[in-house]
Amino acid sequence: NVLFLRSFTILVLSWVIIKPEFCFSSVLSSLKALHLQGHITFENNEFAARDFGNQIHVHPLAVVHPKSVADISEIIKHVWQMGPGSELTVAARGHGHSLQGQAQARRGVIINMESLQGQEMQVYRGQFPYVDVSAGELWINILHETLKYGLAPKSWTDYLHLTVGGTLSNAGISGQAFRHGPQISNVHQLEVVTGKGEVLICSKEQNADLFHAVLGGLGQFGIITRARISLERAPRMVKWIRVLYSDFSTFARDQEHLISAAKTFDYIEGLVIKNKTGLMNNWRASFDPQDPVQASHFVSDGRTLYCLELTKNLYPEKSDTVNQMQEIEDLLSQLSYIPSTLFMSEVPYIEFLDRVHASELKLRSKGLWDLPHPWLNLLVPKSKIQHFAKEVFGNILKDTNNGPVLVYPIHKSKLDNRTSFVSPNEDIIYLVAFLSHANPSSSGTDSLEHVLTQNKRILDFCDVAHLGVKQYLPHYTTQEQWRTHFGPKWEVFVQRKSAYDPLAMLAPGQRIFQKAV
Ligand code: FAD
Repeated sequence: NVLFLRSFTILVLSWVIIKPEFCFSSVLSSLKALHLQGHITFENNEFAARDFGNQIHVHPLAVVHPKSVADISEIIKHVWQMGPGSELTVAARGHGHSLQGQAQARRGVIINMESLQGQEMQVYRGQFPYVDVSAGELWINILHETLKYGLAPKSWTDYLHLTVGGTLSNAGISGQAFRHGPQISNVHQLEVVTGKGEVLICSKEQNADLFHAVLGGLGQFGIITRARISLERAPRMVKWIRVLYSDFSTFARDQEHLISAAKTFDYIEGLVIKNKTGLMNNWRASFDPQDPVQASHFVSDGRTLYCLELTKNLYPEKSDTVNQMQEIEDLLSQLSYIPSTLFMSEVPYIEFLDRVHASELKLRSKGLWDLPHPWLNLLVPKSKIQHFAKEVFGNILKDTNNGPVLVYPIHKSKLDNRTSFVSPNEDIIYLVAFLSHANPSSSGTDSLEHVLTQNKRILDFCDVAHLGVKQYLPHYTTQEQWRTHFGPKWEVFVQRKSAYDPLAMLAPGQRIFQKAV
């Protein structure tokens, strides 16, 4: 008996020790045996362990470079057939511009969605124009293509070198969202590969639950492979306007007036500028339309200032430029900004939309684009924005030297509550974005530790003051926090997970569900 027990123990121990290695190599060879139109790489995959946040680096087992939706379906079916016993997870990677490893998968399979780029984009003209694109396509490429037809998507992000699948998995919010809603409100149809490998077309009419689930779904319910995006007539030029306020209430009142007026601007955002000396003197000279992000580098004599940023579209066929200018002047005359701070320029539409790329190129040339980016994005209900501004902009935030702080309102009515996207329950919601970078070799106010501490102070204040704030591009480490984030939507989120990704293999980097093994 003792002998039997000893050999049994040895057997079990060796199985426990050998099993992971055994599984690992058998998984590797099974992946290698797949017949794909694209290919799989098992080495030199470091890029897939990096993202824009540059704080989390998790290495995958393999990266799939698919050439078709069939490739993606094949991979997912393969992992699905391994069943719950396998630890293997799968994450789509768009352009890898996540902030906290959301597109990464430890020893998992990364699907490099950009390999699908180059699939033909099909533009449909007519009364309600749209474009069919691959979800791995960058928004900048879609803009270039649709402009050939005098058309463009209606709703944008501030930066266009992001993929369709990546922004639709969050929301895609920018200064056009007050009118059109975020990007998730401007999609007619999607093609999705679910966590069982099924390829489904979905829209508000067909497989509607899946359609709503994946929009703002943080990659949890399927991999979006194609999208049909709503288009509008594109302007050729835009009038680009910036004005300053010294008082948050007046600034917010003007923003709310503009987003609700029948006749208004086409893009409405805002910036907080704090503790920069000499701003008022340098204001006009410092605004370089080639480098608008530099606005955050203005100096403000220690004061907190609020910059309202607006654009008005200019259409070539509207030859009456005098009338267009009159309209802009009428709109500006309704506002209470500091009169001497009006700055206007006129630039091509594409130059305005692609404005952050100009800054990216400069930062890259100085090696500053790849710094850690401990961003914090919040959605604050209108009823609490004054309280928030007083404490956060007035007290917690000491300066805006570490990166721009954006603040602008959008209408809740432009969001579809059936999607997975979560926002406070009020008619107007403010997006407040602390877009900080950190210097890894510093121990001062630009250090990662300092920025993270400031972010925590902001979050703690929101909690203690019960502001009902929601994170945008959310990041949590426990399921309890996710449950609180989703609030009443949590149950539906969980139901959808078990319907579309029952093994919880998809997008593990979001840290919402853990694959059962
Ligand atoms: P990734 O980071 O690669 O992926 C994001 C998540 O989506 C991951 O969980 C991934 O697994 C999943 N995913 C990716 N592709 C798919 C797919 N096809 N199907 C299903 N899931 C998928 N956001 C705004 O809303 N407004 C802005 O103005 C804005 N400006 C930004 C400016 C910069 C400089 C940067 C870096 C980011 C900005 N963002 C903005 C945030 C951006 O929208 C998100 O980080 C987005 O996720 C990035 O897209 P990506 O293609 O790089 O996605």
